[in-house]
Amino acid sequence: MNYREDTKYIHGGTKDNSHHGSLSTPIFQTSTFSFETAIEGERRFSGEEKGYIYSRLSNPTVNVLEERIAAVEGGERGLAFASGMAAISAVLTSLTKTGDQILCANGIYGCTYGLLELLEEKYGITHDFCDMSSVEKLRSMIKPQTACIFIESPINPTMKVIDIAMVSKVAREYQIPVIVDNTFLSPYLQQPLSLGSDIVVHSATKYLSGHGDVIGGLVVGKKSFIEKLVLRVQKDMGGIMSPFDAWLLIRGMKTLPIRMKRHSSSAEKIVEKLKQHSMVKEVLYPNDLTHPDRTIAQRQMSMGGGIISFRLTGGKEDVMSMMDSLNLVKIAVSLGDAETLIQYPATMTHAVIPESKRIKMGIDDSLLRLSVGLEEWEDIWLDLEQSLNRLTKI
Ligand SMILES: *Cc1c(COP(=O)(O)O)cnc(C)c1O
Repeated sequence: MNYREDTKYIHGGTKDNSHHGSLSTPIFQTSTFSFETAIEGERRFSGEEKGYIYSRLSNPTVNVLEERIAAVEGGERGLAFASGMAAISAVLTSLTKTGDQILCANGIYGCTYGLLELLEEKYGITHDFCDMSSVEKLRSMIKPQTACIFIESPINPTMKVIDIAMVSKVAREYQIPVIVDNTFLSPYLQQPLSLGSDIVVHSATKYLSGHGDVIGGLVVGKKSFIEKLVLRVQKDMGGIMSPFDAWLLIRGMKTLPIRMKRHSSSAEKIVEKLKQHSMVKEVLYPNDLTHPDRTIAQRQMSMGGGIISFRLTGGKEDVMSMMDSLNLVKIAVSLGDAETLIQYPATMTHAVIPESKRIKMGIDDSLLRLSVGLEEWEDIWLDLEQSLNRLTKI
């Protein structure tokens, strides 16, 4: 069935749900599946007969989630992993070999950066960072050994926006696959596959879950790529998602559309308030009129999302004292939860990056990242405001 957008989050992808009419997807909490006969076992292993074998290879609850994410991202197949990093490491391992180069946008998730360093140190898979703000800049960085292009948009935590359609078009000329980490916006606000990219990865821990109670990762791509990813990487490296975590994500995703609308509309209101406060130097939000990449954002994102970064007029001392006087807003990394969360990239998510590099990436000591939750926006703002007001009195 070709359902409308919001309906797909509740019914998309599932074909058979005949388990005694259970409305909620059953949790198949089993490690293995028994065969009626020896020959049936043989046929399952050879692929002659469809069916489950062992939950590291495939599990019915996890499959429902995989079909659903494929349906909402508009891709052929989905695959679930134990975490966002398990998903990203599997995709990069699957696409590269020693001597290859991974081309990244300037500014990626801290642990993805750590993974790239590991791949270089141990396996000789190099990486380069590229300012992908123009076709020329992108072309100048592509080498014969470029195996894939990896981007996030908006970039965490600077909120720069990359033109996914432009990058995908150039990459296609060279037949280089483009991977987009779509965690920050979720499929509800941005669909990289429809913009021409090849693979989407998610930390499902964030918006897809939405409730801060599960760690998980998802990949969506062409059937041929996902089949290779299962058989050549996931089966043997083993970073699978548990049936219970899949069940939590199936449940969380049902409300993704209404949550994303609320996160976005509250964020827009808080952006306006932050911009007017004397202790705030700059607010970074893709849909804001003053954002340098606003035209690209409007082309590829349906709403601005729930993440706001902002700079205070002061440095580390002011940032720390402001965070310490917050009440409703919790100091925590992660994002996309019902609770509003604030974190300090310089000493938390991006602390592993050497200082000079970090500052060049735009992550200076005055920058904070806020994940706007589902509380009433006035309550969120009142808490931020009182903590900012305290700074004016120091
Ligand atoms: C959190 C995050 C990840 C890593 O996901 P985990 O589920 O924590 O492993 C990757 N990319 C982005 C953009 C993230 O925010």
